[in-house]
Amino acid sequence: MQTQSIQPDLSFIRNVMQSGGDTVKRCYQCATCSVVCPLSTDESPFPRKEMLWTQWGLAGKVAGDVDVWLCHQCGDCTTYCPRDARPGDVLSAIRLNAIRYYAEPKFLADMFSSPMGVIGAVFLGIILVLAVAGVWAALVSHHAFPFPEETPIEFHNFMSVIPIDVLFLSTVVFVLYVLYNGVKNFWMDISAGANLPKSYSGTYPVPPIGTLVTGYIIPAVQEIIAHSRFKKCGQTADRATGHLYLVLSFIILFIVTNFVFIAEDLFHAALHIIGPVTPMPQWHPVKLAANIGGIMLIVGVFMIKGVRDRLTEKGTLKSSDQDWILIWLIFAVGATGLGSEIFRLTQVKQLAYPVYILHLACVWVLFLSLPFSKFGHLVYRSTAYVFEKWAADVKSGKAGFGLEKSVGSEH
Ligand code: SF4
Ligand code: SF4
Repeated sequence: MQTQSIQPDLSFIRNVMQSGGDTVKRCYQCATCSVVCPLSTDESPFPRKEMLWTQWGLAGKVAGDVDVWLCHQCGDCTTYCPRDARPGDVLSAIRLNAIRYYAEPKFLADMFSSPMGVIGAVFLGIILVLAVAGVWAALVSHHAFPFPEETPIEFHNFMSVIPIDVLFLSTVVFVLYVLYNGVKNFWMDISAGANLPKSYSGTYPVPPIGTLVTGYIIPAVQEIIAHSRFKKCGQTADRATGHLYLVLSFIILFIVTNFVFIAEDLFHAALHIIGPVTPMPQWHPVKLAANIGGIMLIVGVFMIKGVRDRLTEKGTLKSSDQDWILIWLIFAVGATGLGSEIFRLTQVKQLAYPVYILHLACVWVLFLSLPFSKFGHLVYRSTAYVFEKWAADVKSGKAGFGLEKSVGSEH
């Protein structure tokens, strides 16, 4: 009889248990969870196998398992588990650990996993904003520091878009670099764990960029925006609405921010092709979109919080520190954004500038936390959607065209 020995990764088990998966060892493999899970498939049922792999400390197997990311923590499995092993919460803990695993440097992941760390990061953001504004006031604008004397209040007198760009663009470059490395390693791991045909077992198998975008990324984004999987979740189907509000608000605010960046920073401030576009009148379509996005952000947060509170009360869902950190950080971004606008319009100088500084600091922290906190699920789950579609085509033989060139090559 053939025997196989395994080397349990005890630190992996410990980390999952400490991140909210402390019930994992109660599982006795009855498979009820995989049967009731509305998102599990016949070809690759979950979460029973992930419970076993985690009990055994098979960190590599779990890292290569794309199914972990297809779970939406609806809690249906937790409701029916006869051992109260809470598989939905265990999978959530596995995802949090995976984000930390793929993020470098690790000290930032540690910082963003504790409420005190995030509060410290916001203070650091405030100091950075003030430092940049101070340099700007001393060298360029020569206004009174920290707050300009001029009325009516115009935030670009406090700090022009150029120093804001310096602060935020450098952060964006850093975040994209960390995410690129994380997603690349993630893709390699799930490729290795997906039992792809031998010809695809190169170190980094990916389809050509055109096929990747049109064949897999666009359909995945369409599915994410439709929230079709969320809506299948029995216990938390109504969470889909709040989550949809959040996703749409991020898209709206992303477009608005880029519009301002291109029109104001590039065409006005840098190239002098057009005049200033900010501050915009309230009726301006971009301003209207920004306000709608901000309100949707706050409403979405409260809807998600309401569902979480209800399910926590019922015992079907456990929320970790990381869940609450993300919810409150997003809320802080929305509330300070709207607050600074209201105080600017009402000319309450004592509040408008401090709230604006807090808003910039919160946005900076949210950006910076993307690869290191639960916020990263946005990227890793989207990647998992793309991978799942591509892997299905590879296994069924549909994804062969043009792929062979890139198989096994390092990118
Ligand atoms: S997690 Fe619960 S339902 Fe799932 S296999 Fe284990 S004991 Fe059964
Ligand atoms: S939490 Fe929901 S989606 Fe996740 S494994 Fe359990 S039943 Fe499936």
